[in-house]
Amino acid sequence: MRSHNAKHAKGQIGLLQATARGAMVAARTILPEKSMNAPPNPASTRIARYRNLIGDAWSPARSGETLPMVDPSTGAIFAEIPASGAVEIDEAVKAARKAFDEGPWGRMPAFERGRLLMKLAQAILAHGDELAALESRDCGKPTRQARADVSATARYFEFYGGAADKLHGETIPYLAGMTVLALREPLGVTAHIIPWNYPMQIFGRSVGASLAAGNACVVKPAEEACLSLLRIGELALEVGFPPGALNIVTGLGETAGAALTAHPAIDFISFTGSPEVGTLVQQAAAKNHVGVTLELGGKSPQMLFDDADLEAALPFAVNAIVQNAGQTCSACSRLLVHRPIYDRVMDQLAARFAALKMGLAETDPDCGPLISARQQGRVRDFLGEADAAGLPVLARASALPGTPDTGFFVPPTLLGPVPADAQIAREEVFGPVLSAIPFADEAEAIRLANGTDYGLVAALWTRDGGRQMRIARAMRCGQVFVNGFGAGGGIELPFGGVKKSGHGREKGFEALNEFTATKTIVLNHG
Ligand code: NAD
Repeated sequence: MRSHNAKHAKGQIGLLQATARGAMVAARTILPEKSMNAPPNPASTRIARYRNLIGDAWSPARSGETLPMVDPSTGAIFAEIPASGAVEIDEAVKAARKAFDEGPWGRMPAFERGRLLMKLAQAILAHGDELAALESRDCGKPTRQARADVSATARYFEFYGGAADKLHGETIPYLAGMTVLALREPLGVTAHIIPWNYPMQIFGRSVGASLAAGNACVVKPAEEACLSLLRIGELALEVGFPPGALNIVTGLGETAGAALTAHPAIDFISFTGSPEVGTLVQQAAAKNHVGVTLELGGKSPQMLFDDADLEAALPFAVNAIVQNAGQTCSACSRLLVHRPIYDRVMDQLAARFAALKMGLAETDPDCGPLISARQQGRVRDFLGEADAAGLPVLARASALPGTPDTGFFVPPTLLGPVPADAQIAREEVFGPVLSAIPFADEAEAIRLANGTDYGLVAALWTRDGGRQMRIARAMRCGQVFVNGFGAGGGIELPFGGVKKSGHGREKGFEALNEFTATKTIVLNHG
């Protein structure tokens, strides 16, 4: 796990020097109260100061300490967030408990909850440009990706808004003279630990489902990127969410995150992030006997057979690893290629990789920067190991003119052939690096595809209908795409992992099962 030093190495270059936890910066320019969560003007050198949302109030950390927010494209600090800890988390959990136990949120009819979620979806769309610009600056996302994220986030709130009043329970046939009801009830207060790679989308999928089910939420976003969520929190209040239904507290994982997952008054934890922290979160959940969903990333394969439509498949093979600079839990970082077409595929793919452009997020390149200096260092270390092992680099993308060397860039890189047991073919890199691995036949493709510790998604390209189904059924993972690919699937499609990729399902109706408990009522009426 990372150190504080490593985490805040992301702010090495900028308006302020941020080196370690000790370098939590003092407040600089404080924006007017009303616009405290308004997006910072990119041309401004002022540091926008953000606050926590607790109940219906905006507040700094009690200590006054802040964490710097760094633009990954340039390395410059442009905003600050509260460096919260156990005190602020406790206040937020209490606000959520009150909202759930005493109302009005906990007593609101389901259709009204749904209506509020729909209104929030509308507000997100209405502020789409602003939210996309914020997410793009905060995460280094190319503009197109940030806009797609806004749209997906709104869809989560629409989908779950529509589902809120359709969570019917069941009646169960039982003994004569008895009627049995199985009610679907909210859990209470749910904790949401959000990562930095898709802050808005992961917030939408997790918080959208939980609010629809009637829970009150406490969100701890990633310290690297969280500004869009604070802005959405503001929009939630504007559209009429009652105090305490949604609380957002920023801070380090080791302090605010750990305090939230260990809090005795939460009823469930939804976590997306690294397997190492996933273990800690599960241990915290076990101590309080609460449920947890873990979405921990993957090493997902994409298989190309010799009868595949390569024209259709190759753009997906590239995008599945270059999207969001490879920082996607369901990125297909392994390309398994049937030997008869291996050389042809590599030639075509190398040309596609070499033509990719990397640059400042706001210039909307094919690939933006990684989130932090730490993540850049991690990906470079993987590439260094691959180089030391003599793995051939088939192509590397170039940077657009004007790409600052202070940004956290790593060019999209194609490696092949890569032995299936090489470190870079087994471990999650979380960067734009594709490992091509040849296979001889269907049996070997299945063995290689299932041959890592992870199991999140898989994709295969073949025109053979029997093979499509045989492989789809043989995959040990949560989602399989045949002749297509979409990272993580749509809003409606259940998503989650097996093995080291985690457990529990998000998205679709299935997520609502995670955020509710069944209560069985047996009525003996004679
Ligand atoms: P991380 O697991 O440390 O961070 C994810 C979230 O967990 C953040 O909000 C963080 O503040 C919080 N957190 C950290 N420590 C915590 C603790 N002790 N208790 C509670 N919450 C805590 O991930 P990272 O260090 O930012 O990234 C490391 C690697 O994890 C990446 O290189 C990538 O491989 C993987 N990752 C996966 C995903 C995914 O979508 N599955 C997302 C981010 C990172």
